[in-house]
Amino acid sequence: MLRERMLQRIDASSGRFDVIVIGGGATGVGIAVDAASRGYDVVLLEASDFGKGTSSRSTKLVHGGVRYLQQGNLPLVMEALKERGILRRNAPHLVHDLPFVVPNYKWWEAPFYGVGMRVYDVLAGRYGFGGSKNLTREETIERIPTIETEGLRGGVVYHDGQFDDARLLIALVATASEQGAVLLNYAPVTAILKDGAGFVNGVTFRDEESGASQDLFGRVVVNATGVFADRLRRIDDPEARSILKPSQGVHVVLDRSFLPGDSAIMVPHTDDGRVLFAIPWLDRVVVGTTDTPVDDVSLEPVPFPEEVDFILDHAGRYLDRDPTRADVRSVFAGLRPLVAAEDAGDTSEISREHTIRISDSGLLTIAGGKWTTYRKMAEDAVDAAQTLGDLGAKECVTRDLDIHGRHDHAERFGDLAVYGSDAPGVRELLESGGGLGDRVHPVLPLRAGEVLWFVREEVARTVDDVLARRSRCLLLDARASVEAAPTVARLLAAELGRDDGWVAAQVRAFESVAEGYVP
Ligand SMILES: Cc1cc2nc3c(=O)[nH]c(=O)nc-3n(C[C@H](O)[C@H](O)[C@H](O)COP(=O)(O)OP(=O)(O)OC[C@H]3O[C@@H](n4cnc5c(N)ncnc54)[C@H](O)[C@@H]3O)c2cc1C
Repeated sequence: MLRERMLQRIDASSGRFDVIVIGGGATGVGIAVDAASRGYDVVLLEASDFGKGTSSRSTKLVHGGVRYLQQGNLPLVMEALKERGILRRNAPHLVHDLPFVVPNYKWWEAPFYGVGMRVYDVLAGRYGFGGSKNLTREETIERIPTIETEGLRGGVVYHDGQFDDARLLIALVATASEQGAVLLNYAPVTAILKDGAGFVNGVTFRDEESGASQDLFGRVVVNATGVFADRLRRIDDPEARSILKPSQGVHVVLDRSFLPGDSAIMVPHTDDGRVLFAIPWLDRVVVGTTDTPVDDVSLEPVPFPEEVDFILDHAGRYLDRDPTRADVRSVFAGLRPLVAAEDAGDTSEISREHTIRISDSGLLTIAGGKWTTYRKMAEDAVDAAQTLGDLGAKECVTRDLDIHGRHDHAERFGDLAVYGSDAPGVRELLESGGGLGDRVHPVLPLRAGEVLWFVREEVARTVDDVLARRSRCLLLDARASVEAAPTVARLLAAELGRDDGWVAAQVRAFESVAEGYVP
């Protein structure tokens, strides 16, 4: 996967495709995988990097959604539990089982959550990850040695999935490419083209690296731009009504000493009725999230100080050591592309189900949903596109389609497990000498050879691509990532043939992004 090769494939295509997808997050890339694997000609255009939007900023759960269980939305839970099982089967190198403990401090919590989690098990059916059960006080402490013990009565353990969102996304980009799709990052769509009858028949995009603009034509144009979907809808029709009500969610990243062991904590009811998680992830603990309605959408949303305080305050109630701002390694925010219901009030009550809208001019917009259900969303979108673009009926095949890197025993690759079947190739690069096995920073896991791998095999173009998404250094330790930026920039420059001015500009740009991650 080289960007230059993607551009060549666009040139070779004469600019005509069956499906043009706008947006390179989970939704858009999922659609590219689905449409290409059905045999359609597909191009996907992403304004920034793949996953730069919401899809790299999730809680990292492949889950049915205990919150929707509480809301009684059983069809949504069942669909998500089924997709959870499909995803683990198709990408076992990236999706893992994780036990979650619901600590009980009140007498009614054990029977209440015990029964609730049993329902969750039943809804999962044959896609189940492992049965739930009630825990004694001692068993709860054994699983969560740092749990707040004052008033603790016991707990309930259940199972869900965990993943690395940005890594799964890049594996899906590779899968789509292997299926024949062309996927281009740093290629914002700037205009929507229409034929003489006023029907959408293409787009104009700008190549951010060359500055050149180009028109592409497609039988269907899919708007999969997440929280930016309304902006695209207004490019199509300036009068288009807003369909989204975005909501910000923040996560705080702490040292693993706050939550040693292999289990996560799930708090089913915070002060304002949300669900809060503390999850072991990549040798750190991720705690979140919040649900704050926002009017402005940006690719780099910034956490509000009160969101960080809310998370730290609640984490302190369930952990024996209260985390403070000084303990925070990184803090990241993401925007949920929630679809507004006519009478929706609080965003936490808005449905997480996805919606497909087709404008009068034929622009297909898909929004909402969640990472866990990206495959089903893509299936629904491509089914709709078939009819809209008269593409000819072809069955969806993604239920049984391996995701790039699929490997049943990736744990054998140790700290390279996340690369799945690519791990031997990465290892070869790391062991090829010239300092490629060296870390880019003493406290970060990233090694120089991986940076080269990201450029050569995973279309990384900038320091931010490498530190925020191909590796997750920015989320693991924001300050250390800033210190590592010059080293990463020089490695990239050597690989991409850039000069010192580019290195300096990249470091400055990354420092400005990382500022939002330092509490
Ligand atoms: C805080 C938080 C926690 C979450 N946790 C979970 C979880 O644990 N599990 C789960 O299943 N789901 C979770 N979700 C939901 C999930 O992350 C989202 O539903 C999903 O990532 C949305 O993907 P998307 O592709 O629709 O949007 P995005 O990932 O935002 O992708 C849209 C893309 O469109 C691009 N774009 C915009 N305009 C243009 C243009 N003009 N031209 C080209 N490209 C353009 C953007 O750059 C962006 O990359 C969470 C969401 C949030 C906010």
